[in-house]
Formats: sequence, structure tokens, C-alpha cells
Amino acid sequence: FAINMGQLQLDEELGKGNYGTVKKVLHKPTNVAMAMKEIRLELEDAKLNAIIMELDVLHRAVAPEIVEFYGAFFIESCVYYCMEYMDAGSLDKLQGAGVPEDVLGRIAGSMVRGLKFLKDDLNIIHRDVKPTNVLVNRKGEIKLCDFGISGELDKSLAKTNIGCQSYMAPERIKGESQNNLGTYTVSSDVWSLGLSMIEIGLGQYPYPPETYSNVFAQLTAIVHGDPPELPEEKYSEQARDWVAQCLRKDPERRASYRELLDHPFLAGNLKLEVDTAGWVERALEYRRKASTPTPVPPLPQSV
Ligand code: ATP
Ligand code: MG
Repeated sequence: FAINMGQLQLDEELGKGNYGTVKKVLHKPTNVAMAMKEIRLELEDAKLNAIIMELDVLHRAVAPEIVEFYGAFFIESCVYYCMEYMDAGSLDKLQGAGVPEDVLGRIAGSMVRGLKFLKDDLNIIHRDVKPTNVLVNRKGEIKLCDFGISGELDKSLAKTNIGCQSYMAPERIKGESQNNLGTYTVSSDVWSLGLSMIEIGLGQYPYPPETYSNVFAQLTAIVHGDPPELPEEKYSEQARDWVAQCLRKDPERRASYRELLDHPFLAGNLKLEVDTAGWVERALEYRRKASTPTPVPPLPQSV
């Protein structure tokens, strides 16, 4: 069945990105809470229709590590995209209280399985792996969203805005694509995955704008500097090695999804009992307290 605006009751705003706003909505006929992303595109109706049709393949993107797609429609020059509502939000907002190694392993495992599923089953390369595109719910589930499915949509979203936080792999920044003329490869997503793990483990983006006088200096550091590492005092040698295998500067030398799943860090993590839902509650509580005026000390790290 197709979703339309008339069936939706608008709720609070969940966040804003570079291209639009995400709102919580209630789908009245089914009583399902959804997240609706509004993307403004100044395009003619035929183009908008083509985008809606391209988005249709997302109905096949059903996996435990992928945010469910419910449908899309357009009104005037806006595309509305309805997906599963994730009640703990994105990882960037949960990392403040610290992420113990067992939870980091669960996050890493979910991301790799999600990315591998998209590639193997749907031949989709994500292209926008970063903590704001990893969503979590209070059941402790971790899922990916916002993967690049629509060529039309991608072209229409002027990617001029590099922003102050780039997750782009060095070879993408350099714009070199000798092997495959401009085509995005899985290994570029592996870099972005590794950088996301570092951000989650450190609690901040590893190339902070305070350190670099401008975006050019920051991108130069990504291309020419040593890749960042997980902090030694918080994470094991295995976890650190896993991330290092994602962050090899040479894309050919980066690990494949298969290798990342078989690595002792993730193989070992699967054998552990991990209370991800409990961590989500603590992280939400920490965020709630941190947003009130009284300062709170950081939670003790349980590594
Ligand atoms: P960009 O525009 O570069 O993709 P972004 O991912 O932060 O950045 P959006 O995708 O527009 O921007 O999302 C804005 C915010 O809305 C996210 O950071 C996330 O916190 C929240 N959000 C997005 N989708 C959902 C969802 N399905 N459930 C709950 N919260 C969501
Ligand atoms: Mg997003």
C-alpha cells in the first residue's frame, strides 16, 4: 500500500540534516510511529516521480540491521520519505557517556552485517556511513539508514557542502579513481566505518575543527596524516587492530566485510552476552542529565 500525507499526524522534530528535516509522525491507519524525512528539491514532477520509483527498491531492503522503509511520496517540490522510527536516535547523540568495548563490538558487527547485506543482496553501496546515519532503539537494536539508492536523488542534492566533518576516504578526497572511473567502491565505505568507530570510541570526531584552521587543512590531514586510532587506555589490542584494518590509507589494503566479521574482535564479541539495551538506557539518561544546567561527571568506563 502507498503512504500519503493525509494519513499522517505530525509530531515533534527529530533533527535537521544538510538536506532537510526529520519529523516523528503517526501513520493513523496502522497506528505505527514513523520518522518522515522532508527533502526540498526544485525539480519538475517527472523527475520527482522518477525518484519515488527508484526509492521503491527499498521495500526489498529488509534486514535486522537496516532501518525499515515504509514508502515515499512528493508534494510540490518536496520528497517525503517515511521510515521506521528509532526511539533512541542516532549514535552521535549517545556516545557522550562513553561506549564500552562490548557495546562497540555490537555496533561494529551490526554495521558490517548491514553494509554486507546491502552490497551482497541489493548491490547497494551505502556512500554516507557516519554516526548520524546509525540509529538505535531502546530494544538495543542498531540499524543503518540513508544509503545512496537513488542516482537521481544523489544528483539533485548538490553535494557541494563538504561540511566540517568529513567521513570521506582519502582516495575520495583526492578524487583519484584510476581503477574505476569515479565509481564508488565498498572500500570507501569501510574507511567511513572505521572513522565512525573512532568517533564513537573517542566521543568526538577525530579531526576536530578546533585543531585545523580550515576545511582544507583538515582534509589534508586525512589524506596525508597517519590514520587515527582507538584510545589505548580504553580498548583492547584486538579492537584497535580491527579499526586499523578499516583505516588503511590504501583502499586495496583495507579489510573486506568478510574479513571484518571473521576478525577475533567481532568473532569474540558474538560469544559475549552484551546488554545493549541497558547501555542505551544509560546513554539516554546521561544525555538527559547533560542537557540540564547542572554539570554531571562522566560515567565510569567499564571496559
Ligand atoms: P546529513 O544531512 O548529512 O545526512 P544527518 O544524517 O544528521 O546529516 P538527517 O538524515 O536529515 O541528517 O537526520 C537528522 C537527524 O534526525 C539525525 O541526526 C537523527 O538524529 C534523526 N533521525 C533521522 N532518522 C531518524 C529515524 N528513523 N528515527 C529517529 N531519529 C531519526
Ligand atoms: Mg542522515
